[in-house]
Amino acid sequence: MVTADDRRGRGGLPGVLKGLATTARTAMRPSHTAEYPDVAPSLPPRSRGVIALLEENCTSCMLCARECPDWCIYIDSHKETVPATTPGGRERQRNVLDRFAIDFSLCMYCGICIEVCPFDALFWSPQFEYAEVDIRDLLHEKDRLGGWMATVPPPPALDEGSAPPAEVTAASRPPRGARGGRP
Ligand code: SF4
Ligand code: SF4
Repeated sequence: MVTADDRRGRGGLPGVLKGLATTARTAMRPSHTAEYPDVAPSLPPRSRGVIALLEENCTSCMLCARECPDWCIYIDSHKETVPATTPGGRERQRNVLDRFAIDFSLCMYCGICIEVCPFDALFWSPQFEYAEVDIRDLLHEKDRLGGWMATVPPPPALDEGSAPPAEVTAASRPPRGARGGRP
């Protein structure tokens, strides 16, 4: 017959003392429980909370929608004719974004859309407080996606001695006419 002492093993009492010692040691440690939502969590700046859209940069190229593994990006656009800016010049066509939406009930936060966008129109924001009672409300249209831009952290500083970004160099060049070259 197996007694309770047998189940505890020959060293039953030392086992209990060992357990109590562990409890006492753990009780002395500071608690790491996050008191959310009373205390906001301290998240790394590049946390994947929500995707923000910088509409001005989007050319409706559809690359993000095509690469999204979940097919949860919806884009509608139309072409618009831009008149020639110089006499004898040609008219141009440009895409106008009518709809850009991401369904966050399908999104798996892989970040592929942000990686593939050639025009820096999509960014991660660490904001994560957008839970909804109705799952259909997780479909964020372009105005809501644009609103998340205010929560996108600035890019990290460049390494010391590194070249300035190409966009900054291009923007600081004088206009073509002012350089003495061809107008
Ligand atoms: S993060 Fe991934 S799943 Fe979500 S919209 Fe972008 S590509 Fe699609
Ligand atoms: S890849 Fe970028 S520019 Fe192209 S449609 Fe998507 S967000 Fe717009």
